Amino acid sequence: MAKRDYYEILGVPKSAEEREIKKAYKRLAMKYHPDRNPDDKEAEEKFREVKEAYEILTDDQKRSAYDQYGHAAFEQGGMGGGGFGQGADFGDIFGDVFGDIFGGGRRQRSSRGADLRYNMELTLEEAVRGVTKEIRIPTLEECEVCHGSGAKSGSKPQTCPTCHGQGQVHMRQGFFTVQQACPHCQGRGTIIKDPCNTCHGHGRVEKNKTLSVKIPAGVDTGDRIRLTGEGEVGENGAPAGDLYVQVQVKQHAIFERDGSDLHCEVPINFAMAALGGEIEVPTLDGRVKLKIPAETQTGKLFRMRGKGVKSVRGGAQGDLMCRVYIETPVNLNDKQKKLLRELEESFGGPAGEHNSPRSKSFFDGVKKFFEDLTR
Ligand SMILES: [Zn+2]
Ligand SMILES: [Zn+2]
Repeated sequence: MAKRDYYEILGVPKSAEEREIKKAYKRLAMKYHPDRNPDDKEAEEKFREVKEAYEILTDDQKRSAYDQYGHAAFEQGGMGGGGFGQGADFGDIFGDVFGDIFGGGRRQRSSRGADLRYNMELTLEEAVRGVTKEIRIPTLEECEVCHGSGAKSGSKPQTCPTCHGQGQVHMRQGFFTVQQACPHCQGRGTIIKDPCNTCHGHGRVEKNKTLSVKIPAGVDTGDRIRLTGEGEVGENGAPAGDLYVQVQVKQHAIFERDGSDLHCEVPINFAMAALGGEIEVPTLDGRVKLKIPAETQTGKLFRMRGKGVKSVRGGAQGDLMCRVYIETPVNLNDKQKKLLRELEESFGGPAGEHNSPRSKSFFDGVKKFFEDLTR
């Protein structure tokens, strides 16, 4: 397959300045980046092509060689179009150019241990007050037998004969010399002739470790607590990863949390709603009294200041919002039914408007609706 022209790939003219090339590359690389196009072979191929064109055209020496000789400038004798930059880490260039967009720096080649994530379920009370929990996590720890070296006791990792411990080798490609990770030792600079039996040369073993995690008061679902260095240990003495404890707060029987406020629903009977009185409502610190004024309608919201939650991020303590709803009495005895009928009559029948503000405005509305209709 004939190779496409580098300028054509990036869609820039031959006279394009570096700034222009960078801009075109950014746009195309974003579009075809493998992170954004998982399992898309065509996008991956396009990404390689774009990256290759960018690498050549932003290097003055390579660009002038390309301008003069075309693709022949980079072809390797005998290798048959090995393709420049193949096998290179996607992350390197991406991090370089896009560091400012994605907030990441250049990706490291070091084998830092992986980060771990632990999902922790908490009750609302635990989340609000804070708690210390023991957790067990499977992780990779340094091998005790070889102390992380990966080599059998009595032996040592040896300097890689291919790269002489440099971890990198120089390869000739066309007119240029290119630096690559050493294929023999995968860039480590050392090789293990006699691997440790316990960790099989990895220097790390799988273990369950128990950790005591202190959850601060006021956390909520979605909060993450980072325990630096509690992830997997790195390879060959590289730093350990971090452990992220992801908080998930279980549903509560009474309260619903909304930021630093708590919500709850409290049923009251209709006699209390009409005449007023005092009820007890639950808070996280126990029961408190709430005064219900006379003529309280269903759905009325009572705000109890300072009975909510103090967020882990600081700020004032939230409020407890109690919504009352009026319950229709059930299982009435004959006497109660009689009393209710008497009450109903005193209201002036089933549609008595005088004592029911909502009914009055509703029936006034209905009346007006029909008047408008027949006008
Ligand atoms: Zn070992
Ligand atoms: Zn090597």
